[in-house]
Amino acid sequence: MTALIRAEGLHRTFTVGAGMFRPRQLLHAVNGVDVSVERGGVLGIVGESGCGKSTLARMLLGLTPPSAGTIFIDGQDVAGMDRRDLARRVQPVFQDPYSSLNPRRTVASIVSFPLDVHGMGNKAERRRQALAMLERVGLPARYADLTPGQLSGGQRQRVGIARALVMNPEIVVCDEPTSALDVSVQAQILNLLLELRQEFNLTYVFISHNLAVVEHIATQVAVMYLGRVVEFAPTAALFAQPRHPYTQALLASVLTPDTGQGIPETGLGLSFPDPLHPPAGCPFHPRCPQRMSVCDSVRPVLSGAAAGEVACHLYPLATPEGATS
Ligand code: SF4
Repeated sequence: MTALIRAEGLHRTFTVGAGMFRPRQLLHAVNGVDVSVERGGVLGIVGESGCGKSTLARMLLGLTPPSAGTIFIDGQDVAGMDRRDLARRVQPVFQDPYSSLNPRRTVASIVSFPLDVHGMGNKAERRRQALAMLERVGLPARYADLTPGQLSGGQRQRVGIARALVMNPEIVVCDEPTSALDVSVQAQILNLLLELRQEFNLTYVFISHNLAVVEHIATQVAVMYLGRVVEFAPTAALFAQPRHPYTQALLASVLTPDTGQGIPETGLGLSFPDPLHPPAGCPFHPRCPQRMSVCDSVRPVLSGAAAGEVACHLYPLATPEGATS
């Protein structure tokens, strides 16, 4: 089956620290990522804060241009796509529904805003469409003329979802959509997203630091570490038999009760490396309990088969002849 969304060799580099007494430094937030997801699938992207997953999400949404690499939607390079066409096909749901909703607008006008921007229908039709979508996400008409400040966190996220879906997109990129919500509300929002996926034949890219959430919703998972994918596998295979030591540590982790912090307690300590100075060789080697001498100097590349791909010297296919850091 052809991938609906496919990223090839994606890089995003930022310049940081430039100043009178500080040299310019390059931060490789995303460093050669290849991922894809088929129509109707859910690609989960997991990793600690700072691993590059949100930068990847912004590139898939067209909000941050890649420094190198290509994103294809249905085989078409998005670089040559009109921004409005891209926005019609790919919509976001963000982590913090409060900060992503205009506090001065009513719920109905927030949801109909994308239709206004794209000049779809007349004012009455746009409001009717917005109300229908609000109803579908669990907010009946009595909520239409409230403002975001009058809603709970879960209700605000329902508004964010309605705003994303009112354009009838094919792909929804969800960046930590439940991590700002109470645990009791998280399951409701996840189940709503799953129902909507079925009903509207949606494809999701789902970014999260919470593996339990990803296991619940994703059909395949990419595990990111320091800007790279270190394991990419169907969800069932990844959770039944995680292969990369980092994935194993994440799965063994106990998530921090502070949902705002976004850092799982991996059992590897909080010594996440400085992304400005990533370790040589395998970037995970300073924290890896299975580290070998080769790991200090030779970077493993992602390789494997349908059961999943992994970037680790424990799996010899990941070390092609002549590979260097
Ligand atoms: Fe650990 Fe080496 Fe595998 Fe990296 S390549 S994850 S250091 S065993």
